[in-house]
Amino acid sequence: MSLAGDVDLRVIPFLDLSGVTAEVRDEVLDGWRVLLDDSRFIGGEAVTTFEESFARYCGTEHAIGVANGTDALHLTLRALGIAPGDEVIVPANTFVATVEAVVLAGARPRFADVDLDTLLLTPATVQAVATPSARAVIPVHLYGQTPDMNAMLECARGLGIALVEDAAQAQGATWSGRKAGSFGVAGCFSFYPGKNLGAFGDAGAVVTSDPALAERLRSMRDHGRSESHHKHVVLGTNSRLDALQALVLTAKLPRLDAWNRKRRELMEQYRMLIDPDVAQPVAAETGGEGIHHLAVVRVRERDRVQHELASVGVATGIHYPTPCHLMAPYAAFADGPLPVAESAAAEVMSLPMYPQLDPDDVRYVAHRLNEIAPRRRSA
Ligand SMILES: *Cc1c(COP(=O)(O)O)cnc(C)c1O
Repeated sequence: MSLAGDVDLRVIPFLDLSGVTAEVRDEVLDGWRVLLDDSRFIGGEAVTTFEESFARYCGTEHAIGVANGTDALHLTLRALGIAPGDEVIVPANTFVATVEAVVLAGARPRFADVDLDTLLLTPATVQAVATPSARAVIPVHLYGQTPDMNAMLECARGLGIALVEDAAQAQGATWSGRKAGSFGVAGCFSFYPGKNLGAFGDAGAVVTSDPALAERLRSMRDHGRSESHHKHVVLGTNSRLDALQALVLTAKLPRLDAWNRKRRELMEQYRMLIDPDVAQPVAAETGGEGIHHLAVVRVRERDRVQHELASVGVATGIHYPTPCHLMAPYAAFADGPLPVAESAAAEVMSLPMYPQLDPDDVRYVAHRLNEIAPRRRSA
């Protein structure tokens, strides 16, 4: 959007959800009207319909709707029998929920460093921190791209540990044509409104092809119920997916691939326009198709650059300013510096990214960034 006048001054939000909301608004309102007449707010057809279509989309046998992505991870770890005394390997540079889930399950997070180009776990960084107490590894498909999932699977098998995917930022991302979330014993998703597939509030899901795990998760999300309303067979919680949110997700899912394609085009445009001596996009590995949940570049003097971009109307984000092993609640689990995660935290900056972002605005952001950010080499 351009403000009038000779000066090209714009206001470009970091994220604008109004475009995706507008596309599904009528369909959602129609579904909600029926639901309000039925009063089937918990469970029911709206939830099972979404679970079936999301499992089919991911290429798994089951999807279990839950209240949010944090619960998806936490319940999965507990359903796998992970408990005090166990360790779970996680990247340090993730959204805090990955680590919270491990601690909530009573296990110890073992922080691993990440690859310099992708900022994702690799078999080598996982092996470097694996101990005999390790029970699982959680690769995080950060910013919407997966690591080499065949190599990660082999690594987990070699260590004899479970692979649980944190696919909260990767709905629809693929590796070798297979969907994120379908490689591990379970794939955990968040449908927080700002994710590529987002509800109108909090929501999440676990996908799996393990029928026993699916059954445990269905029970645990619903107070440990089994068969009947008053039979509680395991320690559960209340983490159900609301029918209202399931209808939103069902309306959005058929549009997700088109939205993800748009993001890929916009990311490609950023790549072509941004001077590589000024800012380096966090690269995807070949073999995978990322969905660019976030458009992340690395820049020097990041905080100054972010501030100056804001002054010319470009809103940006930082994902994430502090690696989890340096946060107060988790510092006790750190066993030393993680140089790549720590240096990335000082340099990463997320540029505006959403499917309806105007290509003209991408050009404006890239040009302003090229002007403002310092060069790596002096010309
Ligand atoms: C959003 C997110 C989560 C948590 O999801 P919530 O629905 O907010 O609980 C977990 N991991 C990652 C990487 C995320 O981006």
